[in-house]
Amino acid sequence: MRRWDIAVASDTGQVRSSNEDYYCHFQTTTATLLAVADGMGGCADGALASTIAIHTLSQHFRNALRGSNSVVAWESVLREAFLDANEEIMRTALERQGELGMGTTLTALVITQKGIICAHCGDSRLYRVRGGRFEQLTADHSLVGEMVRKGGLTEEEARAHPQRNVLTNALGTQAGPRVDLASDLLWPEDNFLLCTDGLINALSPAEIAELILAEKGNGAQSLAYQLVSMANARGGPDNITVVVALWPDRGRW
Ligand code: MG
Repeated sequence: MRRWDIAVASDTGQVRSSNEDYYCHFQTTTATLLAVADGMGGCADGALASTIAIHTLSQHFRNALRGSNSVVAWESVLREAFLDANEEIMRTALERQGELGMGTTLTALVITQKGIICAHCGDSRLYRVRGGRFEQLTADHSLVGEMVRKGGLTEEEARAHPQRNVLTNALGTQAGPRVDLASDLLWPEDNFLLCTDGLINALSPAEIAELILAEKGNGAQSLAYQLVSMANARGGPDNITVVVALWPDRGRW
């Protein structure tokens, strides 16, 4: 299997005192996993929630690959991982505080030889860059995200809205969270970006797209750093995390 050019950049930003975002990426001969999580509930708790989510997801990914000779049902694996992470975060919160209070977003992408499988909960995002097109593959589970979908708010207004951080769905906050699952074919020269809202609220999708499409072959790490430093240059109001996966044999985008 071809090897993806994968890189991460994660930064506290200019305002927050700690980084509650977390991420992972694993590349094997049969499948690649990329994920970001944005924790909430106060410094330590938010960081703990996003860490539990990523660790649980990573464990399910490794278990699915271990000893499996047949095709892995990735949608089921991801769904189970998300629900398991949800339970683990709720259990940890109850043990620590006696009440629920911490939560996290989780957006995960599995890339196989032929296709992609995405699982998503919260307002972190997955974008695909395909042939010069920049497409958002996830829907934000947030108050402003729902207002945008109903036509009551523009994307631009949503990014500046005082309630832009209010989530309508997250892991760790309730039993049986909604987990969006989707799969699609993989096309030659597809590229992917996963990010937390610290990037989205600092830069418009058009600006992110422009930066990515202008990439001149310096690779994923350079691009990841560039995205984070642009968000920081805009004030970095929140933790910023990006995971970039570039098609291995790309000529141009
Ligand atoms: Mg955030």
